[in-house]
Amino acid sequence: MSNETMMQRDLAVIWHPCTQMKDHEHLPLIPIERGEGVWLYDFEGNAYIDAISSWWVNLFGHANTKISVRVAKQARRLEHVILAGFTHESAIVLAERLIEITPEGLTKLFFADNGSSAIEVALKMSYHYHKNCGREKRLFLSLTNSYHGETLGALSVGDVALYKETYKPLLIANKQVPVPVDATPEAAARALEALEATLEAEHEDIAALIVEPLVQGAGNMHIYHPDYLKGARELTERYGVHLIADEIMTGFGRTGTMFACEQAGVSPDFMALSKGLTGGYLPLSVVLTTDEIYSAFYCDYSEMKAFLHSHSYTGNALACAAALATLDIFEEENVLEQNREKSARIWERMQKIAALSNVEKMRRQGMIFAFDLKDYDPMQRVGLQVYRYGLQYGVLLRPLGNTIYFMPPYIINDAEIEKMIDTAYEAVKALSK
Ligand SMILES: *Cc1c(COP(=O)(O)O)cnc(C)c1O
Repeated sequence: MSNETMMQRDLAVIWHPCTQMKDHEHLPLIPIERGEGVWLYDFEGNAYIDAISSWWVNLFGHANTKISVRVAKQARRLEHVILAGFTHESAIVLAERLIEITPEGLTKLFFADNGSSAIEVALKMSYHYHKNCGREKRLFLSLTNSYHGETLGALSVGDVALYKETYKPLLIANKQVPVPVDATPEAAARALEALEATLEAEHEDIAALIVEPLVQGAGNMHIYHPDYLKGARELTERYGVHLIADEIMTGFGRTGTMFACEQAGVSPDFMALSKGLTGGYLPLSVVLTTDEIYSAFYCDYSEMKAFLHSHSYTGNALACAAALATLDIFEEENVLEQNREKSARIWERMQKIAALSNVEKMRRQGMIFAFDLKDYDPMQRVGLQVYRYGLQYGVLLRPLGNTIYFMPPYIINDAEIEKMIDTAYEAVKALSK
């Protein structure tokens, strides 16, 4: 079976996400036959390094034996069971272990099945909590340049125009406060002043502030100082507003600590996790929250205060098994420590990219690395040229506009790091001609 045949069969029937389908008149669609480690193989045997962890989900490589074995074992025992009225061991153990490793105070866990649905859960729970306490708070606060998913509620609190603009008339009440402009403590302090002014004026209407801790992913890998999180925690507490930490991208070691919130020493009222949760194997998400919030829903049925939100695949057993295997790898393989060394090595190798005249704002946070292409018109789509170049030379880079980033699986080795960076370097150099 050739790539071309697979591509034609695909295009006859599949409408792809985040894609102008007409682009595929000239842009090849890559059919993947199998994966192994950081490598993806197409139907003609070409290999690609997955430098973006397949949309930031993969932590320990494709077809990882430790995870595959556990998913297979779970499939033979129990693939799925309704999570209302019933439960299963993998869900229980996973909830216990996540509560153990997440910040203090997060003691109850609600399952969903993808990142956006976790955000919907957190928003609804926050609104509903206040309602159960006799307050009507209809407004959500989020940061400029934020991304929280693309279902209507999640899209409402996001601020990336590309995804949001078209649907504005459909969205729920929300308001943005400025994200710190850069990673300095001064920028954090200025952004906190703006947050305080907004909270002071409107806290009675605001249910929650939602943030992507430390790094805004889809907002072009924008990094800010942990002081902002510290300050935001203090202010939200003072004004009776929830803090929702969307750790869907940042969780599971991506920013250098298991969870980004740890770097500011804060505990949010809600924490949403997905993406790396199952090591990139299966869709699953969770929202962790506090006893205080849980208690506001706990009463006699007749009081009608229960949280009624459900997805068919809530707490899917195969996904829970993949998540447990993923947590085991963290425990057994000293991952965070090794990532610190790997991050330093990648950063060092990247320095030659910084020397290119069309590159600016090189940055990193843990296992996230990014830089911007300077002075190109967005309609020129130079990111797409980098993408094409990468494919030609065996690296899957998928730029966000004019931001090129690396977010590789943690198991990437030295030779693979070198190939990934050299290819990006050559791709960017080719642009400047
Ligand atoms: C990816 C992402 C989401 C949405 O998750 P999906 O599973 O794609 O719906 C939400 N928030 C952040 C920070 C993300 O990176």
